[in-house]
Amino acid sequence: MAKVAPFHSKKTATKVHHDNSSCTEGNNIEKENKASGTGGLPKCSNCKSL
Ligand SMILES: [Zn+2]
Repeated sequence: MAKVAPFHSKKTATKVHHDNSSCTEGNNIEKENKASGTGGLPKCSNCKSL
């Protein structure tokens, strides 16, 4: 469970940001759709529990 700099998906359907390298949801974001920062989005529940 490594904490990483916050990132989110550029896809408009995304409503959360991730900050853990173990989050499968975060890891599912394609490299080209990955944006750094929170994007003003709440933290993903998966990352919260990691
Ligand atoms: Zn996450």
